[in-house]
Amino acid sequence: MSPEPIRVTSPATGAHLGEVPEGGASGAAEAVERARAAQPAWAALDLEQRIEALLRWRDVVLDEPAVPETLVNESGKPWMEAEGIELLYLCELIRAMCRLAPKAFREETRHPLLFLTKKTRLVRRPLGVVGVIGPWNFPILNNAADAVAPLLAGNTVVLKPSEITPLTSVLLAELWRKAGNPPDAFRVVTGRGETGAALVDLVDAVMFTGSVATGRRVAARCGERLVPCVLELGGKSPFVVLAGADVERAAEAAAWSSFIHSGQVCVRTERIFVDASVADRFEALLASRVASLRQMAPDATGAAAHDLGSVTFARQIEVAERHIADAVSKGARVLTGGLRRGDLPGLYFQPTVLADATPEMSVMREETFGPLVPVMRVSGPEEALRLANDTHLGLNATVFGPRDEAVAFARRLQTGQAIVNDVLVNYFVVESPLGGWKESGLGARHGLEGLRQWTQVEAITVGRPLLAPVERFIARQLAFPYDPRVLSILRRATRLLYRRGWSTRFKAPPERPRP
Ligand code: NDP
Repeated sequence: MSPEPIRVTSPATGAHLGEVPEGGASGAAEAVERARAAQPAWAALDLEQRIEALLRWRDVVLDEPAVPETLVNESGKPWMEAEGIELLYLCELIRAMCRLAPKAFREETRHPLLFLTKKTRLVRRPLGVVGVIGPWNFPILNNAADAVAPLLAGNTVVLKPSEITPLTSVLLAELWRKAGNPPDAFRVVTGRGETGAALVDLVDAVMFTGSVATGRRVAARCGERLVPCVLELGGKSPFVVLAGADVERAAEAAAWSSFIHSGQVCVRTERIFVDASVADRFEALLASRVASLRQMAPDATGAAAHDLGSVTFARQIEVAERHIADAVSKGARVLTGGLRRGDLPGLYFQPTVLADATPEMSVMREETFGPLVPVMRVSGPEEALRLANDTHLGLNATVFGPRDEAVAFARRLQTGQAIVNDVLVNYFVVESPLGGWKESGLGARHGLEGLRQWTQVEAITVGRPLLAPVERFIARQLAFPYDPRVLSILRRATRLLYRRGWSTRFKAPPERPRP
């Protein structure tokens, strides 16, 4: 009996959207087998041809109105976020990665000091089949988009999207084929968690985005198999408002970065620390901005203006309710929101701001990943810094304040990335590596690093033809039979060369922090 298919439902209306098969272990095995068979031909293409394939795919995706429509339907997010964030991100990522790829994968030559007769060529080779496993909150951005870098590096990719939002990924794989690209270079296998686990057991490297708990399991399995994995996990990102900040701008930014996609964003604001001297004004501005957000089911075309759609995954409402109850029982005040929206048909919860938060509250310690943000007053930057770093996660951070002071503050945060006097747009700086510190992840997407990690470097050392006689002479001295006279020369040469000798006469350049 084949396993039960997965029914996909609109979180905004409860309507049935479609079904996808539960791939299971056999589905994962079939997808990987096909991707493995296709990999040598894909890797044999010139980089330019692979770039061309990605650009063709991008164009077909842009021409297909079903892409944002499917994305909005299965996630419940506003059109503005589907097109203005996810689709835009995919286009920008493809542009930037295609531009960086020739530099990232270019062969390099190293010249060893000790063996002057030789040089080493660094050759970057693809790893094979990369398994991409994605979460439900960003069906493009943290799913298909993560195939771009491994594909450019010459790997083939099998993507396992979340069972909650698989339809966009299935459509994007269809469009990959429609663009005339090798169908098995990028495949999607749908299924539940077990399908993801089966994929991890079969591929040559894993790109995983999701929770810390599942990320740990994926990393443990990759450790047993000794295959590389990149993990992009949860966040508890602080938003710090220093005395002297533009409070109005900070409140506006805090509202957006806390409630974008109803708070279901890994790099969103999860905790706000505000200097006591500006706290009253900040809280009042934030609460009024949040109370004015227009929450409703996304319409069919994006013509109706609104700010918040539904929550995608019912569990996030339960987490928000648990965090609110715990915080209120410990003295927090609800400034706005706090309730489910019984008047709307799907999964809706009012965007909620809590004041008087303290570090003991679970809302300050566990990822909420939903429409709730706590505000805590602090006595100054030192307390803000200590509390901002008091977490097992370190994904993103925001600092509002006088520019130089805010940059100096950001330099002391334990975080993979930070942004000063703005929010979230640092995710779009795809030229720079983006990853998590502490339990927020391992490795990083984006930038040269995000491309090179999908390759294995092979270092090939060769002699210089003109110096072949010298090389033969040296080789004879170093190899069997050992000669005590050579040893004595070696001893003297080692001391001459390394004891404060010319080869070690260097100084580290002074570190000058730049604002
Ligand atoms: P999960 O960890 O529950 O799931 C992530 C993916 O892993 C899903 O496709 C899931 O399948 C699959 N999966 C489940 N079990 C296994 C397993 N044993 N082996 C392999 N794969 C498995 O995360 P969520 O989907 O709930 O995503 C929310 C989390 O993702 C939040 O913590 C958020 O912070 C984080 N996130 C991090 C980002 C970053 O860039 N750092 C970006 C976006 C989100 P299924 O859903 O079908 O069970």
